[in-house]
Amino acid sequence: MDLLDTLTAKGLRRELPTREEALAVLATTDDELLDVVSAAGKVRRQWFGRRVKLNYLVNLKSGLCPEDCSYCSQRLGSKAEILKYTWLKPEQAAEAARAGVAGGAKRVCLVASGRGPTDRDIDRVSDTIAAIKDADEQVEVCACLGLLSDNQAERLKAAGADAYNHNLNTSEATYGDITTTHTYADRVDTVAKAHGAGLSACSGLIAGMGESDADLVDVVFALREIGSDSVPVNFLIPFEGTPLAQEWNLTPQRCLRILAMVRFVCPDVEVRIAGGREVHLRSLQPLGLEIANSIFLGDYLTSEGQAGQADLDMIKDAGFTVEGAGEATLPRHRADAAAAASEHGCGTATPGGCGSAASGAGTAADAADGGHACGSGGCGPCGGHVPAPAGEEADEARTDLVRVRRRGAGTELAPNA
Ligand code: SF4
Repeated sequence: MDLLDTLTAKGLRRELPTREEALAVLATTDDELLDVVSAAGKVRRQWFGRRVKLNYLVNLKSGLCPEDCSYCSQRLGSKAEILKYTWLKPEQAAEAARAGVAGGAKRVCLVASGRGPTDRDIDRVSDTIAAIKDADEQVEVCACLGLLSDNQAERLKAAGADAYNHNLNTSEATYGDITTTHTYADRVDTVAKAHGAGLSACSGLIAGMGESDADLVDVVFALREIGSDSVPVNFLIPFEGTPLAQEWNLTPQRCLRILAMVRFVCPDVEVRIAGGREVHLRSLQPLGLEIANSIFLGDYLTSEGQAGQADLDMIKDAGFTVEGAGEATLPRHRADAAAAASEHGCGTATPGGCGSAASGAGTAADAADGGHACGSGGCGPCGGHVPAPAGEEADEARTDLVRVRRRGAGTELAPNA
């Protein structure tokens, strides 16, 4: 298939595909699916071998958010029966983080609901980072606290944070349909602040909110443009009690096409299968590993994932290995650029981002379930629903697979890791 040969060759050269090529991936048929996975897999293996990076979510503060992100179970007015609690103490959070690291996670993602942190919140998170790094200085820490004000990213960096997550979620054109309390530009600004402070930028999307193929391509091209080092791909979990509870728009096959498109557009970037993996990919999860090089271990922010041991078994059975703490995630050219940005601060998100050859081999350094689109959320588009693509059946509502998190952080029960 000429399209796939072209995309593989471009991916191996870190060359940006055209929009038409990215759209064509999303329009491939089920008969072509394994060819699509195979082509994206060649690109994945070129830059990431057979390693899978494990990330572990710690929900520092759950629910009761004043923002109205319609995909999110923690939103203003959510009727989802999720855990609701205020800030964990640093030692409580560090204990949860230790469970994830003991289970094989290399990165811990500290997430808090809310529009953005106060300076006091930055103090709390700084204390938490210190508690985690005191126990194991090799653990990567990513913070996901919402919209940042001036100097907050610098304070997190000084406290030892390695990365900051803030997802763009969907295209600029449709952003106002899913959230009214902040803008797409606000989100881009926070990613730029994190980047400017020398934090690795982690920014991704949510698929399945009723967006069009063009919207998906738009947001992935934007993520490349802003220089995200890590791209979490969330598949909407349509939580009961949220505006998007009826939005079951994804099939396992469509999820794989979306992952492949992201891999072709961002070939040398950490592509992470985030929230909704078990719900939407289901028995095809191992094929997702052929494309993505990163997943979350265990549970998400407000929903439960499969058992951590099942994640590890899946990785082993599919012939992959868990990335160790001493192994670099990013290819050398990106890691070097990230290190330079971390040392000097990037100043601004870098056009050409995800490592285009034309942009100078990837630029500066581098979030999922619920939180700020860390993938626990889940909604469909609040306006302008787009039907499933021609020839593709919409997914059946698998509400039986959506399990609200009842263990781990904020509870008396042991975490799933
Ligand atoms: S995504 Fe973040 S800001 Fe939006 S409603 Fe959920 S917790 Fe609040």
